[in-house]
Amino acid sequence: MSIADKLAQVRAALPAGVTLVAVSKTRPAADIREAMAAGQLDFGENYAQELRDKAAEVEGARWHFIGSLQRNKVKYVVGRAALVHDVDSVELAEEIGKRSATPTGILVGVNFGEAQKSGVPAREALDFARRVVGVPGVALRGLMCIPPPSDDPQAAAPYFAELASIAAAGRDAGLPLHELSMGMSHDWPVAVRHGATIVRVGSAIFGARPPKIT
Ligand SMILES: *Cc1c(COP(=O)(O)O)cnc(C)c1O
Repeated sequence: MSIADKLAQVRAALPAGVTLVAVSKTRPAADIREAMAAGQLDFGENYAQELRDKAAEVEGARWHFIGSLQRNKVKYVVGRAALVHDVDSVELAEEIGKRSATPTGILVGVNFGEAQKSGVPAREALDFARRVVGVPGVALRGLMCIPPPSDDPQAAAPYFAELASIAAAGRDAGLPLHELSMGMSHDWPVAVRHGATIVRVGSAIFGARPPKIT
């Protein structure tokens, strides 16, 4: 199946109003252009320099930084990414804000699992959101999570439900937590059922990635 066909397959099942971020990490610019030709606008990258390089190579895409961002790499991302998905320290939010000519949209990364290194613990997410909402130069928009890995997409359901309930509690408290970035290739339909407003889908659009070389 072509990239266009796979995109069409995901879109056919995606409710209106949910943003599809096509996760293009490790994929060449040609694949991104192919997706754009099929009408895809939003792309996700999780290595800062890769986002910088692809933003220079591919014009007209809307970029999302979905990885865990080190402070010394903020400079590669600000001004290029419309949304930084996984902000988990006040220092990181401040660094993003300092470098932003216009406010950069951010999501608070929420950590539910010991397997995941980034993100703030779920029980601290709202306190953390209260601290970053006032940081100059950033615009807090919502929450994101990556549930602990599982072969069973349904296993993610309780985490998606909890992220949605944390966001709802935050909105009740006046925090602008309108976006919920959750769901990947294997579990995005489950995330949508639990209120995802942004899904991040990579391999289901671009095919399996080669193993990461570190
Ligand atoms: C790679 C990645 C995705 C996409 O994963 P797929 O399983 O290929 O859909 C989504 N979110 C984050 C944070 C990622 O790093």
